[in-house]
Amino acid sequence: MAKKPKLTHRQKRQVAANRSKRLKEKGKQSEADLSSLETGRVIGRFGKHADIEDTSGAISRCHIRRTIESVVCGDDVLFSRGEASDGGVVSGVIEVVKDRKSVLTRPDFYDGVKPIAANIDQIIIVSAVLPSLSLNIIDRYLVACEDTGIQPVIVLNKVELMSDEERETAASQLENYRSLGYQVLLTSCKTGEGLDQLNDLLNDRVSVFVGQSGVGKSSLINQVLPDADELVGDISDNSGLGQHTTTAAKLLHLPAGGDLIDSPGVREFGLWHLPTERVTWGFIEFRDYLGGCKFRDCKHLNDPGCLLRQAVEDGEISAERFASYHKILASMDEQRPSHASPP
Ligand code: GDP
Ligand code: ZN
Repeated sequence: MAKKPKLTHRQKRQVAANRSKRLKEKGKQSEADLSSLETGRVIGRFGKHADIEDTSGAISRCHIRRTIESVVCGDDVLFSRGEASDGGVVSGVIEVVKDRKSVLTRPDFYDGVKPIAANIDQIIIVSAVLPSLSLNIIDRYLVACEDTGIQPVIVLNKVELMSDEERETAASQLENYRSLGYQVLLTSCKTGEGLDQLNDLLNDRVSVFVGQSGVGKSSLINQVLPDADELVGDISDNSGLGQHTTTAAKLLHLPAGGDLIDSPGVREFGLWHLPTERVTWGFIEFRDYLGGCKFRDCKHLNDPGCLLRQAVEDGEISAERFASYHKILASMDEQRPSHASPP
């Protein structure tokens, strides 16, 4: 191989000057390119396209520049309008995806995790008294919310089915969450209880509804947005045509204000697999004690000198939440071997 000729100092300076001039010009050019772009928000995502709502509320279907890693519902983007293509349906190109302030992800065999929605302000965790109220499932969702940094709201639905006594028990169970600073709302789609408050909570924010099947997510969404199912393209249809429906997410404007991002994938958001430390961090009342146990690798079980266990004994941390924490960790250990199977 030919040896590279040695440059003199003068030549080196020249090369550096040329390069910096070129970069400056390139920078100016891309600034000019950017200034000709329009701002919009992704409100629908289908296959290779995305629907963008511009600042006037008009919607354009856009291609996505190949260099962009991912575009999801809720993304703020810069896009260019172009000639209509694909039979006149597609009329723009997404050029830039702005930094996301939050993102929901799901596990993906190839990429580790895959984003499913962005810029969400709050996660409505729906639970119900029927089939049964599971605090452990609420805790799992709370950990997932804490991990994304998105504010959770706990909704207990179907409350009209409870007797006064059951209501009292549930209220005291949920009081612990309120004392941790979480919002808790009791709702019923049958009597309308709590729905005004739900509408208030949704106002001016981008929300998603998550929770197990059967708790009443569709019913609640239909209360705040009549015809939601048609708008999302029959989201409740899990009948094997899943591939298409599961990829389509939509951002919907609610009549009472606020936006909702919805898709089967979004509703299934949950606690897949997290390293132990992130689960621990997800229990917000544990944070003050972390790092203080006698042993660095304390499992917070029967380890001597465990500050968390001490806090439970002292009544500073609820025994239910502590048990729930260990239950989550145990179930994740079980999940681990099957985790890496291809789709
Ligand atoms: P999803 O799977 O979470 O979307 O739940 P759905 O909205 O499909 O509701 C599951 C079932 O619970 C349906 O039969 C609903 O009619 C019922 N349901 C929903 N909300 C309530 C409620 O507040 N009270 C009662 N009793 N049933 C409800
Ligand atoms: Zn410990």
